[in-house]
Amino acid sequence: MAKLREYEQYVGSDVIDELEIYAGKLQNVSVQNINSTAVGGGVAEILTRMIPLLKELGVNACWDVIKGGEKFFEVTKKMHNALHGQQVTFTRDEIDLYLYTNEQNRNEMELKKDIIFIHDPQPCALVLAKKSNGNRWIWRCHIDFSNPDLFTWQFLKEYINKYDASVFSAPSFERKLKIPQVLISPSIDPTSDKNKELPDEIITSVLERFGIDRKRPIVTQISRFDYLKDPVGVVKVFKLVKKHVDCQLVLAGGGATDDPEGAKVLNDVREIVENDPDIFLLLLPPASDIEINALQRASSVVLQKSLKEGFGLTVAEALWKSKPVIAGAVGGIPLQITNKYSGLLTHSIEGTAFALKQLLQNPDYAKRLGENGRENIRRNFLITRHLRDYLLLFLSLITKNEDVVYL
Ligand code: UDP
Repeated sequence: MAKLREYEQYVGSDVIDELEIYAGKLQNVSVQNINSTAVGGGVAEILTRMIPLLKELGVNACWDVIKGGEKFFEVTKKMHNALHGQQVTFTRDEIDLYLYTNEQNRNEMELKKDIIFIHDPQPCALVLAKKSNGNRWIWRCHIDFSNPDLFTWQFLKEYINKYDASVFSAPSFERKLKIPQVLISPSIDPTSDKNKELPDEIITSVLERFGIDRKRPIVTQISRFDYLKDPVGVVKVFKLVKKHVDCQLVLAGGGATDDPEGAKVLNDVREIVENDPDIFLLLLPPASDIEINALQRASSVVLQKSLKEGFGLTVAEALWKSKPVIAGAVGGIPLQITNKYSGLLTHSIEGTAFALKQLLQNPDYAKRLGENGRENIRRNFLITRHLRDYLLLFLSLITKNEDVVYL
């Protein structure tokens, strides 16, 4: 795992010095992160990189995953969809199962660290274990909260208001709450296997393994198979563009243990692909970081045609590789892409097809977008900025009763 000073090559030494100063005030402060999956999806991706760096800085950080049965994860996926705006109704039994599973986890987990850092709705009700004047609790929301289903929001809000602070990824997700809200965007790690530079031979060998032709244009979307990532829409876009420009489509993704909908979405995609030899539907096992890195680097254009998106790490990953990205203008994606400057933002299948055709036919323009995109990621969305924001948040909670913090 990368050592902090390795990041100087991307962000300069001042940034690392600053992290050490903040962390100096947090030596041995313990922070327990809790989420609902150890692999798959952006939260696990970030925690995998964040925990070792916090430890290196002297913060006593750890990460635990709640336990739940299949039915519990069906309920929480429904909740996830509802918070993304889908109209759903919950039965009393479903709500009870959500609360019961949280209660079970409360009874089984040690929740005694100085800061308890809960990620997303699945473990949100763990907060009932919080004691007044005890440790500090943060609820970190990674999802697109621009238009949540009201019933689900009202239900969850009761629990969120019991925390000491909440964190959202983008200004448009701000909600009415009794507790402080902090805006902290996610980030990528430039030194990880997923994002580091790769020798050309490795990229070629990954493509050969999947039977993809490196000499013809490659259009890629990497995502869990989830309706909100619109993989069916991506295939429709490709079929429209393919009539005019020769290209191949790579749709690559695996599952997450807390997402039971993947198989159904994958079936829908298979139906529409119809054995097209230029569409590569790749089911990636966990820890396919080098493969994802190679696929992104080999792409002429990267798509992220999400219908809702908390942030979209895959957008940052592609931009970091200087790839032109076409993405849905939703959730946290516009933080990363300024339309026609550092990528293209679209609203429909036809709009995405038009943009894709334009970029495939104008490689110079596409290249410029990718270069501007990389610089935006370098300045704003690398893990060092994320670490700084978290350290400051921890400091503000730990030193709550002090007017001045001397660094
Ligand atoms: N990812 C992965 N394997 C897959 C699909 C996605 O490792 O099969 C990674 C992807 O590279 C990114 C993260 O999982 O780092 C997904 O984060 P994002 O914010 O894009 O979406 P989420 O899945 O959290 O909604």
